[in-house]
Amino acid sequence: MDSVVVAGGGAAGVAAAEALRAEGFTGSLTLVCGEPELPYDRPPLSKQVLTGTWDPARTRLREASHYADKGIRIVHAQARSLDLAGRTVRLDDGADLGYDGLVIATGVRPRTLAAGHELTGVHVLRCLADTAALRSALEQSSHVVIVGAGFLGMEVAAAARTLGLEVTVVDPLAQPMVRQVGPLIGAAVAGLHRSAGVIVRTDVGVSEITGEDGHVTGVRLDDGSALQADCVLVAIGAVPEVTWLHGSGLSLGDGVDCDEFLKAADGVYAAGDVASWTSPRYRRRVRVEHRMNATEMGTCAARNLLGQAEPFDPVPYFWSDQYRVKLQVHGDLSPSDTVTIEEGAIGDGKFVALFHRDGVPTAVLGWNAPARMPPYRKQLLA
Ligand SMILES: Cc1cc2nc3c(=O)[nH]c(=O)nc-3n(C[C@H](O)[C@H](O)[C@H](O)COP(=O)(O)OP(=O)(O)OC[C@H]3O[C@@H](n4cnc5c(N)ncnc54)[C@H](O)[C@@H]3O)c2cc1C
Repeated sequence: MDSVVVAGGGAAGVAAAEALRAEGFTGSLTLVCGEPELPYDRPPLSKQVLTGTWDPARTRLREASHYADKGIRIVHAQARSLDLAGRTVRLDDGADLGYDGLVIATGVRPRTLAAGHELTGVHVLRCLADTAALRSALEQSSHVVIVGAGFLGMEVAAAARTLGLEVTVVDPLAQPMVRQVGPLIGAAVAGLHRSAGVIVRTDVGVSEITGEDGHVTGVRLDDGSALQADCVLVAIGAVPEVTWLHGSGLSLGDGVDCDEFLKAADGVYAAGDVASWTSPRYRRRVRVEHRMNATEMGTCAARNLLGQAEPFDPVPYFWSDQYRVKLQVHGDLSPSDTVTIEEGAIGDGKFVALFHRDGVPTAVLGWNAPARMPPYRKQLLA
C-alpha cells in the first residue's frame, strides 16, 4: 500500500493517521480536515471553552510540528465525493486525491429544527466556531432556552447557569439524559440542575421558535405555553456526516455501515461518530458518538487497513461533566434496564449504579466515583 487518505480531522481521523505510522506505514498519508483549525478535541467545547476557563487553542490535539514529524500531510478542504472504483476522493477545490487505502472519519453534524433556525440567537454546538458564537451570545443574553436534554444540552445548561444566566431546558421525554442513563439517574440529573436554579421542563416538546425582526424572542411549547429567550440552543442530536458519500455505492444505513473489522468496502474503513459496525459483543449494529470510542475505532480501522484482522469489540464508555459532578458510563444500557445502587446513595453526591437486563449486568454508572469504576468495568468485559 503506497498511499492512504484519512477523510475527517477529528479524534478518530487523527488516531487513524497516528496508528498507521505507529504500525510502520511509510507511504504517503493525507489527513483531510474540513475545518480551518488544526484537529482539536470537542468535549471541552461545552465545558471549559464555553465558560471561558480554557482558551480555544488548548483544545488542539497536536501541534503542527507533530504532523510534520510523522509525515502526515494536512489538507484543509472538504471531501466532496468518493469514486470507489477509481479509488479517488474529490475535494471541494476540485483536486482529486488518489488512494490505496481510505479511512472515513467525518463525524456527525447537529440536527436542527426547521422552523426558526434562521433567526439570530439560535445556535447549535459542534465545532469551535459554534462555541465562539454561543459564548458571545451568552455574554449578551439573560434568558437562554435549551431545546433537548441530552448530555450536550445539560452540559450547556450547567455552563450557562455557571455564567449567571436564567436557563430553561425543554425536552419531550420524561427525564433529562434518559436515553443515556435511564429514568432513575435522569431524575437525579434533573434534581442537580433544579437545585442550581435551572428550570427543567420535561414531557413537553417545542412547537416553534419565535422571533421578531430576525432575532429570536422565545419558544412556544406543545402545551401552548411560551418561554421568553434571547438565546436558544438546539441540542436535539446529530446525524452522520455522509452527504459526500451519497452515490458512492457504500452502504449508508446508519452512517457508514461497516463489518466487525470496520471495513466498509475494499480498501475502505470507517471510524468514529460517522461509522456503525456489527458488534460481536452486542450482536447488532452499533454506532457510538463518544470521545473514547473515536480514538479506539480510528486505531482499529488503521490496523485492519494495514492487514490485521482485529474485530472492533469495545465496552463503550462516555463521561459528562456538569457543575462539580462527573458522570461516567461504561457499557450499553437501555432505559428499561433494572438499576441497583451498589455504593453510596442517590443524593449523597457520590454513588455507583449497576444496570441489569435479564439478570445480566449491562452497564455501570459512576456519579463522582471514578476510582470505583475499574472492577465494574472488568465485570462487563467478562
Ligand atoms: C460539544 C461536545 C461535547 C462533547 N463532550 C463529550 C464528553 O464529555 N464525553 C464524551 O465521551 N464525548 C463527548 N463528545 C463527543 C465526542 O467529542 C465525539 O464522539 C468525537 O469528537 C467524535 O470524533 P470523530 O473524529 O468521530 O468526529 P468529529 O470530532 O466530529 O470529527 C470529524 C471531522 O470531520 C470533518 N468533516 C466533516 N465532513 C467532512 C468532509 N466532507 N471533508 C472533510 N472533513 C469533514 C468535521 O468538520 C470534523 O472536523 C462531545 C461532543 C461535542 C460536540
